[in-house]
Amino acid sequence: MTHADKVERLLAAVRAADAPLGLAKDTSNLFRDRQEGRKARLDVRDFTAVLAVDAAAGWVEAEGMVTYEHLVDACLPHGVMPAVVPELKSITLGGAAAGVGIEASSFRYGLVHETLAEIEVLLPDGRLVVATPDNAQADLFFGFPNSYGTLGYALRLRARVVPVRPYVRLTHHHYTDPAACFAALERLCAGEADFLDGVVFGPREFVLTEGHFVGHAPYTSDYGFEHIYYRSLLERDEDYLSVRDFIWRWDTDWFWCSNNLGLQNPILRRLVGRKRLNSVFYTKLMRLNSRWRLTHRLDRLMGWHRESVIQDVDIPIAHAAEFLDFLLAEIGILPVWLCPIRPQGRTFTLYPMRSDTLYVNFGFWDVVRRREAFPPGHHNRLIEAKVMALGGIKSLYSDSYYDQTTFWRLYDGAAYRRLKARYDPHGRARDLYQKCVLRQ
Ligand SMILES: Cc1cc2nc3c(=O)[nH]c(=O)nc-3n(C[C@H](O)[C@H](O)[C@H](O)COP(=O)(O)OP(=O)(O)OC[C@H]3O[C@@H](n4cnc5c(N)ncnc54)[C@H](O)[C@@H]3O)c2cc1C
Repeated sequence: MTHADKVERLLAAVRAADAPLGLAKDTSNLFRDRQEGRKARLDVRDFTAVLAVDAAAGWVEAEGMVTYEHLVDACLPHGVMPAVVPELKSITLGGAAAGVGIEASSFRYGLVHETLAEIEVLLPDGRLVVATPDNAQADLFFGFPNSYGTLGYALRLRARVVPVRPYVRLTHHHYTDPAACFAALERLCAGEADFLDGVVFGPREFVLTEGHFVGHAPYTSDYGFEHIYYRSLLERDEDYLSVRDFIWRWDTDWFWCSNNLGLQNPILRRLVGRKRLNSVFYTKLMRLNSRWRLTHRLDRLMGWHRESVIQDVDIPIAHAAEFLDFLLAEIGILPVWLCPIRPQGRTFTLYPMRSDTLYVNFGFWDVVRRREAFPPGHHNRLIEAKVMALGGIKSLYSDSYYDQTTFWRLYDGAAYRRLKARYDPHGRARDLYQKCVLRQ
């Protein structure tokens, strides 16, 4: 079926819909329990085609629900990769555009949405528009990121690609002092690296990883089965990976979250097998667990009060050490992922970042357990307050507790209302606060 045929089918489905819209997708990386009211689910599962790769002109065009795993496999034979490839294989191009996508090349190219040139959007009222930075829908182009489907669905996107070489040489730099670590990160961002990210393993244990494309490698490591990538950062100073294995280095163990499922145990790993060691499999297990509340009940039995804290927040580098101090003292989740972001100079309405500032993304994904009781959302609220105080911004793919006034101050409520009035005048899709905070 051609893209145009699929679009026709979907336009008819939207026009026939008699309930708030939602997507019927095979995978999702959203981490908030949603109130499953009646929805008209649009079947977009076949919007997964890569339509064209133009390595010379530096772009790839693909349908909105193409997973990055598929997109990367379509680009590499042309000697290119999407400029920013989020770490989890099932994240889709449209989902990363509507959410916020980041990876170790973001200090060079910014966030996923900063690498886009064109978005074809199915609006909630059934109109189809194409938004570019300089056409009549430019406001939607710059308002689409962080809109989480509340302004429409991206059915086709054009994204920047960059040349690759067959291998990536990794250099792991070790630090014991947070200030020295963040100073080094700022220095490395001004250097020649192709990729930069890092991990906080403890209050005095930091590793920054610098990645360079190379044509030859004396050996390559394999972190797709027995060996665990994030542990190698503590054990080695240097490493080599094929470009594809580098791109998916974090997916095999969901960064380190496979530990929550006991899947870093060598015997269990062998039983589960290489094919199932990936974020898609873990997400399914996590969803089962949250549906049956298995670990919740176990914690209650053991006398633990618990709160899920799964967040990615972006902090100006000048305040990174202060944010880390807070995180270690008040939240206590380890390890923590560090990823530098250099905004590329264009302002995206719903995810405003200063173009003159280098940011550090802090990614932390776990459950906080305490013996003493605490109010619902206590630790997530502390994080929201600290991020605000330090001039940072939080992505909205997980739990949020902002009150409406604060939320619309942070995510430009006035501009959002103008976008809603123009692109969803009848309010057929929920608004951003309803979706991301009230979980409707
Ligand atoms: C543990 C964890 C780690 C993460 N790490 C990273 C990371 O390292 N890098 C990173 O970039 N991101 C990361 N994320 C966040 C993830 O990128 C976002 O949640 C992203 O939006 C998920 O995209 P998806 O394709 O899975 O979409 P979904 O999860 O299915 O959808 C996300 C939201 O976008 C909307 N949406 C989906 N597709 C479209 C579309 N085509 N058009 C319009 N709206 C759409 C949905 O309605 C939904 O509200 C992480 C998330 C988790 C849970």
